[in-house]
Amino acid sequence: MKQLQNLADEARLTLANITDAATDFAVPSVRLGVTGLARAGKTVFLTALVHNLIHGGRLPVFSAAAGGRMTRAFLQPQPDDAVPRFDYEAHVAALVEDRIWPQSTRQVSELRLTIEYESASYLARKLGPGKLHLDLIDYPGEWLLDLPLLKKTYAAFSAEALTRARAANRRDIAAPFMEVLSGIDPDGPESEADAQRLADAFKAYLAACRDDSHALSMLPPGRFLMPGDLDGSPALTFAPLDIPFDAPPARSGTFRAMMERRYEAYKTHVIRPFFRDHFARLDRQIVLVDVLHALNAGPDALADLQVALGEVLTSFRPGRKSWLASILTRRIDRILFAATKADHLNRADHDRLQAILKLLVQRGMDHARFKGADVDILAMAAVRATREASVKHAGEELPAILGTPLPGQTLDGRSFDGRSEIAMFPGDLPNDPESVFQTSDATSEDQLKLDSSLQFLRFRPPKLDRTAEGMSLSLPHIRLDRALEFLIGDRLS
Ligand code: GDP
Repeated sequence: MKQLQNLADEARLTLANITDAATDFAVPSVRLGVTGLARAGKTVFLTALVHNLIHGGRLPVFSAAAGGRMTRAFLQPQPDDAVPRFDYEAHVAALVEDRIWPQSTRQVSELRLTIEYESASYLARKLGPGKLHLDLIDYPGEWLLDLPLLKKTYAAFSAEALTRARAANRRDIAAPFMEVLSGIDPDGPESEADAQRLADAFKAYLAACRDDSHALSMLPPGRFLMPGDLDGSPALTFAPLDIPFDAPPARSGTFRAMMERRYEAYKTHVIRPFFRDHFARLDRQIVLVDVLHALNAGPDALADLQVALGEVLTSFRPGRKSWLASILTRRIDRILFAATKADHLNRADHDRLQAILKLLVQRGMDHARFKGADVDILAMAAVRATREASVKHAGEELPAILGTPLPGQTLDGRSFDGRSEIAMFPGDLPNDPESVFQTSDATSEDQLKLDSSLQFLRFRPPKLDRTAEGMSLSLPHIRLDRALEFLIGDRLS
């Protein structure tokens, strides 16, 4: 009898699996791309998003959760077997248990979150509970900025790269690379040793441009800074040469022919597969931008960021005749640009941060003559590492933030050990977002104020509060719920 029961159970289970697979097949899915340049906050964002959805985080602006209609969210095996899985569990453990920031994005990865919900509409509710697969694709923004290379010849790539390297804001940084370049004869014989020497110098130049003090964004080719699994391959061992924009193809056997061949290999084996396999299949996109990082480095960094955002927008809406348009199976219909790490500022400054990003994106949109997708902009912190406070300074109440600086951070000559909490006045962003774009010789009062008073410290992830029953609450955030509402709210309505 017992055995029969087991058999019946098994049969029921099999049946359930079959229907599950059948209904799963019909379950709608949204592929959401999460991108941004290195350290923009992709890993932290994705981890916080999943953690808040799974653990019923406080999401008052996300209507499905706020209205109590979201019944369950859980992780499921991802649909693409050949893509690395986003290591959610390790990232949560780092953030929540160890209170350290997780390992940042280095390559593309994916995670499927399934959401069960009750529809808000009476009719849809009659049809039964709804289900949505949210496929999250995390990828480096550097790779996205490679797209424009597809339509450029090696000569055009070289001319542009060297024009940038000779510009006033990069000339000094590029000097060591230019020195190596000057010793190379493009029409001389090909040489692996020279190729490596030149490519190394070029990579070192790009890395220096990205450094905190310069914080530049336009640094193609993207894999030179974020190689994924291709580090050291010939397709990544080339560099621009000093040849005219419209130079004819190189004679075979020359150094230039070698560089040209590798550049073309980079396009064929690196850029195209990435766009075909990942980018072209996205439905929606969030672009994370570390505006504070660029603000800290000054107007040159902001100008460079603006160009990069314009390029990003062009990638989302390629001209109809372009190669990319022909392989795009889906069209991205919503794009959110989010300024991350807003918890470094007091609440009063969040709108100002948002206004600066809005201006950056708007200029990019005008430049790219972008239209056809809903674009939204917000300032957010996927994980809020600080709390609000006010401090008294010279008899004046100043809006401040409270947090635990990471070990080794320093402020006004004081060094922190990662254990003590401090209150600090981070400074104010200017009221007029235009003023941050003015170069340092401008005498705008706002600019002067920004130069002298903004201070950013890196804080440890927050200690999670516990309920009376000892359950730890989900990760605190700023406006993560608004981001969710824009990105998937309509798909859970
Ligand atoms: P990725 O390279 O885009 O994956 O960047 P990460 O998500 O790893 O973030 C890089 C660093 O930025 C982290 O190590 C944190 O120090 C910081 N960070 C990212 N998001 C936040 C946030 O919401 N709040 C704070 N305070 N810091 C953040």
